[in-house]
Amino acid sequence: RPRALSGIQPTAGSFHLGNYLGAVRQYVALQETHDAFYMVVDLHAITVPQDPAELRANTRLAAAQLLAAGLDPQRCTLFVQSHVPEHAQLAWVMNCITGFGEASRMTQFKDKSAKQGTDRATVGLFTYPVLQVADILLYQADSVPVGEDQRQHVELTRDLAERFNTRFGPTFTVPAPHIVKEVAKIYDLQDPTIKMSKSASTPKGLINLLDEPKATAKKIRSAVTDTGSEIVFDTAAKPGVSNLLTVYSTLTGATIAELEQKYEGKGYGALKTDLADVVVDFVTPFRARTQEYLDDPETLDSILAGGAEKARTVAGETLAQTYDRVGFLPAK
Ligand code: ATP
Ligand code: MG
Repeated sequence: RPRALSGIQPTAGSFHLGNYLGAVRQYVALQETHDAFYMVVDLHAITVPQDPAELRANTRLAAAQLLAAGLDPQRCTLFVQSHVPEHAQLAWVMNCITGFGEASRMTQFKDKSAKQGTDRATVGLFTYPVLQVADILLYQADSVPVGEDQRQHVELTRDLAERFNTRFGPTFTVPAPHIVKEVAKIYDLQDPTIKMSKSASTPKGLINLLDEPKATAKKIRSAVTDTGSEIVFDTAAKPGVSNLLTVYSTLTGATIAELEQKYEGKGYGALKTDLADVVVDFVTPFRARTQEYLDDPETLDSILAGGAEKARTVAGETLAQTYDRVGFLPAK
């Protein structure tokens, strides 16, 4: 079985619709075909200032949401990144083969540091992509299910894997991104030219899966739509409507063509009202399942402990080989 690896940050409490459609949904599907490793990336979460108690709670909350979305600990390995110390250890080695200029070209760093003010951005935020490289290479992953915004980081991973393999001998599998084109980028409801994001979206632009369904329905009904009144999928001329059609189509299984036909001659209002119902039907059971996992923290923690143990077996082997390749004296 090919390997899959991905991670999601516990920065904000709730996953948003972009996380789910762009990434988590693919995690669930890949359990069937891949030896899949999924983690809550708490090491990544501290690249921006965090409240310790909130981080701890959000880490459990992220794991509960992954399970609620359909991850099955019998069929995949689910763990918390900081429980596997090999991530930080391999990241150091990877930092030492990454060019400063190369890291400087990462657009996520440019965006996030510009937002915080360059003086306040940390070195951790700067090397975030390199930690992500280590995350992926530790598991010899073939496939990395992510949204479009992560493509550049997977490219960096491929470059560094090849560089290391060339310099020190074959060590790492060179991974490929698994990006589902239709949902690779879900857009902000108020500004359909930017991606929906935990850190960059305004509350009105962001559909959090755990929000009160009534509030969610209202946000969808007040989503920004485009000039004109026709409901057609056209990302250039009608980014707002197209985004809504994408969400509608993915959550219901109806094709875009079927939806265009269904709403022919109807206005944006009808589309938004119906989509609000569709989203509410999805989030309502999702919230309930998440709550069930949260109500039983012992079970949750034992799932995560089991996952970390499995992850460490694989990660430990890769790290040992890497340390040997770079010339570290084995500890006896
Ligand atoms: P932040 O703004 O703090 O980076 P985020 O909203 O990007 O948060 P992450 O935890 O960084 O969320 O991303 C988890 C996964 O969700 C990644 O694979 C990412 O590519 C995917 N993702 C995030 N936003 C979207 C989106 N709007 N559309 C599709 N996929 C997305
Ligand atoms: Mg992100």
